[in-house]
Amino acid sequence: MRREEYACPNGCSLPPRKKQLREYSNGTYGFDFYDFTFCPCCGSLMPYSLKKLKGFFEVYNIHAALSDAVQLIYKSEFESAAREAFVAVENYLKKKSGLDSHGFDLATRALSFEIDKQTGEIKRAPLIAINDLKNESERNEQDGIRYMLMGFFQGPRNLYQDNHIGSGVSNTISVIIEASFFLHLLDGQLRCFYVFLIPEPCEMFHGTRIIAHSFLFS
Ligand SMILES: [Zn+2]
Repeated sequence: MRREEYACPNGCSLPPRKKQLREYSNGTYGFDFYDFTFCPCCGSLMPYSLKKLKGFFEVYNIHAALSDAVQLIYKSEFESAAREAFVAVENYLKKKSGLDSHGFDLATRALSFEIDKQTGEIKRAPLIAINDLKNESERNEQDGIRYMLMGFFQGPRNLYQDNHIGSGVSNTISVIIEASFFLHLLDGQLRCFYVFLIPEPCEMFHGTRIIAHSFLFS
């Protein structure tokens, strides 16, 4: 009999499992059943997996603009969650740049800039800059993120639109995490978040004290 946390929330009757060699958490091995992380019949996350996923997203600091996508993945609506993540990034780019174009074209126009190769002077500033474009390294970063965003719409989104990719939970988690990375970058937050590890024993807990600070250098 399966434990409730590994049973399908939609009540699907699951196929029989075979005993396989597996590693236990204490490092020993034995023959036992593997549990399903999601239902092999309807694709829903098992209650156990849903709890783990919620814990993961809490730690990950997913961008607030992706809250609808995250709620959809919790409901096991994976394809809708991925589509929502693409839309969230697109809307964010539109709002921040003031442009009314879409996808690949939007990313190109929002982040591109022109520079005088002789003097290094910016001839046309980008509508959205992820840094001050002060030197070649920063300009390369701006170009690199533009290429990634152009690819994000032309690659992964088209794979979803054309149904050329499995819309299971793993691919959708990847899309949401990538979208969150872009959104934090467009906010300028990845440049100003620092975590300090202070390796002194803490008086209260006799362990390592970890203090996280977030501040702006602008
Ligand atoms: Zn099911």
